[in-house]
Amino acid sequence: MAEKIAMENAVAEIDGDEMTRVLWALVKEKLILPFVDLKTEYYDLGLENRDATGDRVTVEAAQAIRRLGVGVKCATITSNAARQEEYGLKALLPSPNATIRAILDGTVFRAPIPVKGISPTVSTWKKPIVIGRHAYGDIYRAAEMRIPGPGRVELVYTSPEGAEQRLKVADMEGPGIVQGIHNLDGSIRSFARSCFQYALSEKLPVWFASKDTISKTYDGRFKEIFAEVYEGEFKTRCREAGISYFYTLIDDAVARVIRGEGGFLWACKNYDGDVMSDMIASASGSLAMMTSVLVSPSGAVEYEAAHGTVQQHYYRWQKGEKTSTNPAALIFAWTGALAKRGELDHSPALAAFARRLEQAVLRTIEEGDQTGDLARLANPPPARVLNSWEFVDAIAGRL
Ligand code: NAP
Ligand code: MG
Repeated sequence: MAEKIAMENAVAEIDGDEMTRVLWALVKEKLILPFVDLKTEYYDLGLENRDATGDRVTVEAAQAIRRLGVGVKCATITSNAARQEEYGLKALLPSPNATIRAILDGTVFRAPIPVKGISPTVSTWKKPIVIGRHAYGDIYRAAEMRIPGPGRVELVYTSPEGAEQRLKVADMEGPGIVQGIHNLDGSIRSFARSCFQYALSEKLPVWFASKDTISKTYDGRFKEIFAEVYEGEFKTRCREAGISYFYTLIDDAVARVIRGEGGFLWACKNYDGDVMSDMIASASGSLAMMTSVLVSPSGAVEYEAAHGTVQQHYYRWQKGEKTSTNPAALIFAWTGALAKRGELDHSPALAAFARRLEQAVLRTIEEGDQTGDLARLANPPPARVLNSWEFVDAIAGRL
């Protein structure tokens, strides 16, 4: 075997949970370690270790991404009551993705991985739709309260000098619930900038949508800042590149997305991006055929899979089944991170390896070696339906 490709600097490697944790080790062993002299700083974000460290490891992982400039993350469980019981957790922890995104700020870009033979469920789609998801604030940084009975709920702002601004939310007639959410002009502005920058580099028109007719102040501010950033910093460059900017209401955007032919960047508020990226991924093929990257305003990037830990497959794997879970998104998280590391460290060999690995994945699928999720959609049907271990071997063979 030829000499392994050297790495100058490390990437932050963030391990996760369940089936994706199993595949993470497999991908490294078969597709990366034989070819690359891998340098990583390893953070174990498996649920047990997050619980044992009181979630300190998640914060350290986010700081490592910022320091090293590049991170790669496995899918992780967001704990809830059922998980607390299943894992005997000391406490319910916040979503690791939300914690990391809150520290890095920025925008998550999610793009389907097009592959021949797998066509989108939506027959009008000719080109991929890329989602740019704002990664800060809104319900992901909310304060919530259950209200025990009748009474007044108010918003209160106190300035550093002690001046107060108050606004009634509701006079509650009985028990209920209340939620306070926020965002920051600075974060929205960097979200808008990242989107226009991404659009210029990928030559895509930009759509942004919100509900400013109902949420006149909150969503209205998003709309205003997007317009300011576009007019002030990007209009000329976008015009020169033939890229348009289009604002509309979120419900109108959803309708247009389904009727349209794709080929644009859809800038989404945090929740819209969470929900819509799953829709776009599933309708484009499989959740496993999507790349996801968090771009922080500081320039740091975190590559991840857009899907979760594939819990049901994990339970079957624990019983001894060789599941047919698709590792493509995990592999593309690694290739994204290695290519970026190669670019930052001026190591064309590392970047070229990442591209070769991606090509090997696509060839494997296009030549008819597929996992079950793709086999269900493929036209013509694949020659072979493989389990994850056979699929990774088939990629390694081509690589
Ligand atoms: P999921 O892991 O995304 O899986 C949902 C379903 O999608 C699976 O049951 C499977 O369908 C299909 N699927 C997803 N990824 C696949 C792959 N790579 N190959 C083949 N099929 C795939 O969502 P979940 O099971 O609802 O959530 C499990 C855990 O993931 C939760 O604890 C959640 O907190 C966490 N989560 C983490 C992240 C993240 O870290 N980025 C994101 C979302 C969810 P079939 O069963 O039909 O085969
Ligand atoms: Mg989601």
